[in-house]
This record gives sequence, structure tokens and C-alpha cells, in this order.
Amino acid sequence: MDVFGGIEAGGTKFVCGVGTGTADLRTTSIPTEQPERTIVKVAEFFRSSAGQDLKAIGIGSFGPIDLDPRSETFGRITATPKQAWRNFDILGQVRQAFNLPVGFDTDVNAAALAEAEWGAARGLKDFIYLTVGTGIGGGACVNGKLIHGLMHPEMGHIRVPHDLAADPFPGSCSYHHDCLEGLASGQALRQRWGIPADQLPADHQAWSLEADYLALAMVNWVCTLSPTRIVVGGGVMQREFLFSMIRRQVTRLLNGYIPRRAVIQEIDSFIVPPELGNRAGVLGAILLAREAYRSGAG
Ligand code: ZN
Repeated sequence: MDVFGGIEAGGTKFVCGVGTGTADLRTTSIPTEQPERTIVKVAEFFRSSAGQDLKAIGIGSFGPIDLDPRSETFGRITATPKQAWRNFDILGQVRQAFNLPVGFDTDVNAAALAEAEWGAARGLKDFIYLTVGTGIGGGACVNGKLIHGLMHPEMGHIRVPHDLAADPFPGSCSYHHDCLEGLASGQALRQRWGIPADQLPADHQAWSLEADYLALAMVNWVCTLSPTRIVVGGGVMQREFLFSMIRRQVTRLLNGYIPRRAVIQEIDSFIVPPELGNRAGVLGAILLAREAYRSGAG
């Protein structure tokens, strides 16, 4: 039986899966070590679990990554703070190891694809998938296609108003300080309050600030990308009370300017959690593999 291989390449672990979709996916988790060593372990997993049945591989990678096939650094991880992985040719190494078609995109774009196929964005052509964890990343699907363009969206690094009187924290992003990720990621929460997001009490002042920043960002995307739904996951969003706080703020900030039921009366089904949980990334990588197989991308 033909199966596909999916790699969700993350900064702390590589989640690898073999199968065709949600029903038959078998996964394993490999700690992220030195690049070459990690790829060897990934290859061992695919050879032992799929062998000759493996028809293509998809990679949903942490980044930023170079997705432009005309570029000299196509397929490489670029400006990551993880020194050993900087400029690593992840696409080339996986192609070399298997001699199979390999699909390649960001981890969040992969997760967005999976949520559109099997999860919270099923049947939607215009939506945003956002993850709020250690960092913040997002993928935007417009008219049925994920946005790529110049590189790929870096939705965590947009600017949102930062009132230094209300929030004197300078921000945690090493490139921009107080971009959205610098103000509202799990890393920012931990640095600002000295407590990780999963341990901050529900009545802590951190949460109204967090909801404000995320709502400001979402309002920017509602006004620029016109999504019909925003799917938002990641470790920080495990604190479920954040959803109602963010929804209230988004409706309030839009202030009736976008006269659609979705962002007023139906805001509960406009801003929603993912349905595929921590399998979204690797399932999306399976879809990237499927696409690479169909198009014969080698
Ligand atoms: Zn930034």
C-alpha cells in the first residue's frame, strides 16, 4: 500500500509520521540534536516503518525557511537562533536520503493544511491558523491557497500597539523586541512575569494583557486578510479562558466596522481552537508529501 511520510521539524523535537491521513497515522518523536544526526534518525524511522511503500515525504519546518525554488538557499533554514541549524539544507538532506519527491513548507502552513482537510477549517477557503506557544506563528489561506509570496508570512512578528505605561516589559524578540511574539508568546509571558504560562493563575493580570495583544493582532488580520475563521492553538492557548477574553476584545476593537455576523453574534465560531491537537503539524506534512507525489516534485 502506498503511504506518505510526514516530518514536523521543530526546535526541540521532530515528529515523524507514516500513513495517508488521520485514520492510519503512525508517529514517533525524535529529539532535535545536531542536524545530520537528527536526519539519520528520521531516515531510520521511515525505512523501518514504511520501507518500499513510502512514495513521498513532506516537511513542515520551523523557520524562517527559504521557500523560493529560484533562490540559491532554497530548502534551507535561514535566520534561526539555533546556531547548528542556521543555513542547514533540510530539504536537500532529506531528498538525498530518500530519492523521493519531497514537499516543503513552514510548520504552521502544514498545520493549516491539515486543519483545512480534517479539522477546524474544513471546507473553508479563507482562514488563518495561528499558534501561540514558545513563539508565535501563523499561516493564512486566501481563496483556497496558502500565502507564500516574498518568503512566507511571519505573523508573529507584526507590530501591535505597545503602551509602555501599562506594560513596561521591553519585549522578548531578539530581532524586534516588542513585536507580537516579543509581547505575547509563551517566552514573553515567562520573561515578563517570571512564571510559565501554564502556571500563571487564571485571575493573574497577565491574561487581560495577553488577550489584548492577541486581539489587536487578530483585528489587523481581519482587516487585511478577511478570514472567515481564525483557528488558534499552541501551548499558551491551552488556557481555555483566553478564548472568550480574546473574542470579546476582537468584537469590541472592530466596533461594528466589519458588519458581519461572524465577528459579532457568531464570534464563538469565528475564533476557535484547532481540532487536530498536536497532530496537526505532522498530518499537514503528510499532505505536503501527497501534493509532492501528485506533482512529481523531486
Ligand atoms: Zn519579532
